[in-house]
Amino acid sequence: MNTKRIQNHKGGIAFILFALLISLSSQAQFPRFKVLAFFSKQVEGDHVAFANDAIKFFNDLASGGGFVFDTTSTMTDLNDLKLKNYQLVMMLNDFPHNVEQREAFRRYMENGGGWYGFHVAAYNDRDTNWPWGLDFLGGGVFYRNNWPSMPAKLVIDDPKHPVTKGLPANFIAPINEWYQWKPSPRERKNIKVLVSLSPDNYPFGLKDIVPDGDFPVVWTNTDYRMIYLNMGHGREIFSDATQNKLIIDAFRWVIATDKKGNVFEK
Ligand code: ZN
Repeated sequence: MNTKRIQNHKGGIAFILFALLISLSSQAQFPRFKVLAFFSKQVEGDHVAFANDAIKFFNDLASGGGFVFDTTSTMTDLNDLKLKNYQLVMMLNDFPHNVEQREAFRRYMENGGGWYGFHVAAYNDRDTNWPWGLDFLGGGVFYRNNWPSMPAKLVIDDPKHPVTKGLPANFIAPINEWYQWKPSPRERKNIKVLVSLSPDNYPFGLKDIVPDGDFPVVWTNTDYRMIYLNMGHGREIFSDATQNKLIIDAFRWVIATDKKGNVFEK
């Protein structure tokens, strides 16, 4: 038996295994991240319709995109144990219902969690009684809306931000019910408004009319990894390529700014 030859052979196998290990560790891990989207079926029909469309839209993005898109209509899933598996929590047409859920969400966000909220996810009024939630969203209480829902001319506030980069200076967004907030979240130092409703729309609405005022539509609270988009009412939200780009770039940005590292660069 030629022991030298066997040793060489063993060395060769070890080298191949080593090379394989190196190449595996230098490749991106899949899935790269996990998203948990909360939605309710027990809300206004136009909000349910939006959630269904949103789930389809993000599911399509997830297929082949290397991320997991989980959905739940059970708000009790908003707890520490469940949330620790996710890099992003999405609120499609709902918000935390009680103190336990609110506190779990606060802990998640204060520990670097990500949030992407649409439309009614930011809704609050005098009866909400959630000071932290109000601060998180920029201090704006629901003030008024246009009705019926309709398209709107939007303007980009910051064309250099990753969320809005590459968008036209203004565009016509598809039919939506648009919420105005008081005071405007723009008044807060830690709120960065990225997109607003153009004053060209005023008077805005037919039955319910918004006559004037500052009208932020997309913003982030710079103390957290979060973004809010006021879109989320009805079946037309994903019908416009420009708006879809905004929705995707916002998603990408919240994921990319994870303090644990940019998963898109791994
Ligand atoms: Zn609505």
